[in-house]
Amino acid sequence: MECKDPKCPIHGSLKTRGAHLSGLVVSDKAKKTAIIQVDYTIYNPKYERYLRKRSRIAAYNPDCIDAKTGDMVDIAETRRLSKTKSFAVTKVVKPKVVR
Ligand SMILES: [Zn+2]
Repeated sequence: MECKDPKCPIHGSLKTRGAHLSGLVVSDKAKKTAIIQVDYTIYNPKYERYLRKRSRIAAYNPDCIDAKTGDMVDIAETRRLSKTKSFAVTKVVKPKVVR
């Protein structure tokens, strides 16, 4: 299948730069968009412990990748695509485990 999506980070003209993250797709409801949950830790000097944090990032989900809820994906920062989107899904690292 040929991909003609100009906003596809792999086949189109959309350039990625800046942050590269990986996370879990928690929603694929919006058209060509996936909500990615990214878990990370930060060091808290006062308590000398790592704190677990998470954030949700809206990312462009081109048809040739078509990430679904439950997939682990890589995302890369792009130019601002909409009010809330400035990332694009670049790869499905691990598809959802179906039992
Ligand atoms: Zn593509």
